Amino acid sequence: MIRKCSPVSGEPLGDFPISDEAAVNEAVARARAAQPAWAALPLMERLRRLDRLKALFDERGEEFAKRISEDTGKPWVEALGHEIMMVPVFLDYHRKFAPKVLRRQRAHTPLFLAGKSSYIEHFPRGVIGVISPWNFPFQLSVIPILQALTAGNAVVLKPSEVTPISGELIREVFAAIELPEGLVEVVQGEGATGAALCRADVDMIFFTGSVATGRKVMAACAARPIPCELELGGKDAMIVCEDALLARAVKGAVWGAFANCGQACVSVERVFVVDAIYERFVEGVRREVEALRVGSPDEEAEIGPMIFKGQLRIVERHIREASAAGAKILTGGSAIDRPGQFFAPTVLTDITPEMSIYREETFGPVLPVIRVRDEEEAIRLANDHIFGLNASVWTGDTKRGLAIASRLECGQVSINDVFSSVANPGLPFGGVKSSGIGRYHGTDGLLGFTHARAIMVDRAFFEAEPTWYPYRGKLQGIVELMRGLIRKNPIRITRGFLRLRKGDRDS
Ligand code: NAD
Repeated sequence: MIRKCSPVSGEPLGDFPISDEAAVNEAVARARAAQPAWAALPLMERLRRLDRLKALFDERGEEFAKRISEDTGKPWVEALGHEIMMVPVFLDYHRKFAPKVLRRQRAHTPLFLAGKSSYIEHFPRGVIGVISPWNFPFQLSVIPILQALTAGNAVVLKPSEVTPISGELIREVFAAIELPEGLVEVVQGEGATGAALCRADVDMIFFTGSVATGRKVMAACAARPIPCELELGGKDAMIVCEDALLARAVKGAVWGAFANCGQACVSVERVFVVDAIYERFVEGVRREVEALRVGSPDEEAEIGPMIFKGQLRIVERHIREASAAGAKILTGGSAIDRPGQFFAPTVLTDITPEMSIYREETFGPVLPVIRVRDEEEAIRLANDHIFGLNASVWTGDTKRGLAIASRLECGQVSINDVFSSVANPGLPFGGVKSSGIGRYHGTDGLLGFTHARAIMVDRAFFEAEPTWYPYRGKLQGIVELMRGLIRKNPIRITRGFLRLRKGDRDS
C-alpha cells in the first residue's frame, strides 16, 4: 500500500494499493487487446472521442484542480492553470494539426527511380508505458497520454507514488469519457512498478523524472530493446542583459523560480545578471520575494508546501552547503515552523559554480543570483553545465535576444518570459545533454508515438527493373548511370538506362 499524507498538514489522506508485476502485465495485456480497434478508428473519430474531455473539464475542472491541490498542496490557481487548462489547449491543437501530421505524405523520388512514387505513412507503436513524476502529476501524465492516443496507441500509466490521488483522478477522467475498455490503464506503485512496466509487453516507454531513474529506464528498454523517450531534469539559466526591462525581469525571475514552489523541470535555477544592473535587480527580487505569501491552497497563498519531503531535504542540503561555502542568504533559507512541508522562498547571492546548488538540480523554492561581467560570460556559464532543458533571455532588443538564444545549449528558450514556450502545444519540448532524449508536444510529439512506414509504388509497366537479374552486359550501364547521377548529366543518365535495358535484351 502507498500511504498518502497531506503536504499541507502531514495528516494521512488514504492508502492506495500497489500493482505488482502480475497486475502490471495484466494491465498491459488489456491495453494490447484494446489497441487495434482504437487504431482502426478514423483519426477524426479518435479526436472526437478525446474531445469529450473538454465538456468534462468545463463541468468539473475546478473540482479536479482541488483534488490535485489536495495531493500536491499547490495553489488552486496553479492546479487549474498549469495542470487542467493545458488539456483543452492540446486537444484543440491536435484537432487542427494531427490530421495534417498523421496523414500519408507524398515524398521525393530521385531521378534514378523515375516512374515510381514515394509516400510516408505513420502508424502507432502499439502500447505505450508512460511513467510520470510528482511535480505536475496530472498534466505530465495526461498530455503524453493524449498524444499517444491521438496517434492510435493504447497507454499504461504509472504515476508517481508521491501523488497517487492524481493517479486515481486520471483513471477516473479517462473512464468518464467512455473510451474503450483497457485503452488507458493506470498502475499505481513505487519504482518497482515502473520497472515492471519497462519489462512488460509495451512497445515504448515515455518517461518523465530524474536523471538517475532515466538511466535505469533506458537500460531496461535497451535490454528489450524498445525505444524510450526521456524528459529529465534541468538547471535552467536566465540571462538578464543591461537593456532588459528591469521590473519585468525581476517579476519574471521570481515567478519563474517560485511557481509550483520551484518544483518544475523548467524552473529558473540560475539567474545571470550583468554587472551594470546587478544591484538593482537583486534589491528588486528581494522586495518581491518578501511580499510572497506561503500557505495552503485554502489560504490563497502564492506558494504552497513542497510536494515531496525528500526534495525538501535536498533543498536544505543545497542551501546549507552553499552558505558554508560563502553564499549569502538574502531572504528565506529554512523550512517554516508549521505542520506540513513548507519552505520559505529563498534568494541566494555570491554563488560559485563549484557549489552543489549550482551544479545539481535543486527543484525547490530557491533563486540563486549570479553576477556576470557581460552577456558573453553569462552564455559561457549557462552552457557549462550537464543540463540543457530550458533557458530565458531578457533584453529590450529582440534581435540580440534571438542571437543569444541560438547560442544556448538547451531544448527551448523564451525571450522576455521564463518558460512560455512550454505552454504552446505547437512547439516541441525536450532537453539536450543530461536533460533528456526526444521531444514531445507539437508535431514531434505526435510523430514520436508512431513508426514511419516507407511506401513506394511502381505501376508495373515493365516486366522487370533494368537493375534486376541477369547482370551480364550491365556493368557499363551502371557505370554510366552512376557518373551521370554524380555529374547531374541527364544525357549520361539516359545513356546508362538505355545500356541497362540493352543488357536485358542481349542476355
Ligand atoms: P523520479 O525519477 O524519482 O521518479 C519518476 C517516476 O519514475 C516515478 O513514477 C517513479 O516511481 C518511477 N520510477 C522510479 N524508479 C523506477 C525504475 N527503476 N523504473 C521505472 N520507473 C521508476 O523523479 P521524481 O522525483 O518523481 O520527479 C522529479 C524529477 O523529474 C526532476 O528531476 C525533474 O526535473 C524531472 N522532471 C522533468 C520534466 C521534463 O519534462 N523534462 C518534467 C517534470 C519533472
